[in-house]
Amino acid sequence: MTAEIIDGKALSLKLREAMKEEVTKLKAAGIHPKLTVVLVGNHPASKSYVNGKKKACHETGIDSEILELSTTVTETELLQQIHKLNNDPTVHGILVQLPLPGHIEEQKVIEAIIPEKDVDGFHPINIGRMMTGMDTFLPCTPYGIITMLQSKSIPIKGQHAVVIGRSNIVGKPVAQLLLNHHATVTTCHSKTKDLKSLTKQADILIVAIGKAHVIDESYIKEGATVIDVGINRLDNGTLTGDVDFQSVKEKAAYLTPVPRGVGPMTITMLLKNTIKAAKGLENREG
Ligand code: NDP
Repeated sequence: MTAEIIDGKALSLKLREAMKEEVTKLKAAGIHPKLTVVLVGNHPASKSYVNGKKKACHETGIDSEILELSTTVTETELLQQIHKLNNDPTVHGILVQLPLPGHIEEQKVIEAIIPEKDVDGFHPINIGRMMTGMDTFLPCTPYGIITMLQSKSIPIKGQHAVVIGRSNIVGKPVAQLLLNHHATVTTCHSKTKDLKSLTKQADILIVAIGKAHVIDESYIKEGATVIDVGINRLDNGTLTGDVDFQSVKEKAAYLTPVPRGVGPMTITMLLKNTIKAAKGLENREG
């Protein structure tokens, strides 16, 4: 079997075209969706992610600004900036690029963003809403993964989904979303015993480890859907996933590549959440 590749870039372009039209209509009605990204310090990877988000906003017609703060900014100063953005009616979505410098408590910063502007979907209130199946801002990477599965009409209900990774931004929320869609979910992590015996049962395997090529075909059930979330930079500078693409491609039914897989979908869902925030806030204020 040779897997069908789920092209996250192509799907993103299609979704962003539809969003562009929606933004045009919103602007005609006097609503100008705007995202503010807060960048602390000048970590090259963070800078590149933030610029990618700005470019995507621009292409979709969403206003955006990057608030660049020095790496020495204090936690109090950062919280004050977030407070200002919370109260700025022209700003609909706020995203603080992680990771933050060690002297700033990330959780405090996440909780300082009002849930109505939390387009990353990391605020505990929004996580709680997701867990109980309420309408909310879904965390962008898990939201993108579900959208990719749906784009190929891959069944989720009743399927065994195995998630490798239990971070707050990928592993845990994607497991919860799959459960919300009626999958039977197993979550694995670095302390899991006999990982392979579990992954080989997966109809849907989500890999979010952060180590290049650790999952090869020996972990895969014939005909499975494999979603590779990992982004790893090799010594020669190329980006690659956690999955050994070449060997898994011959065994899986569906597979996502890296790059052009989950990465572009994460940004696309951020745009979607920003539009949702703009509509929600303007309706509330109107
Ligand atoms: P974390 O480092 O926070 O989490 C990694 C998880 O993998 C942990 O739960 C860890 O277990 C588990 N793990 C590590 N080694 C193994 C192993 N050998 N076997 C089984 N489980 C293991 O990473 P993130 O969740 O933030 O990100 C994961 C990857 O996804 C990274 O490459 C990141 O760059 C990428 N990413 C991609 C995004 C995209 O848009 N495509 C968005 C976000 C992240 P334990 O908890 O026990 O330590």
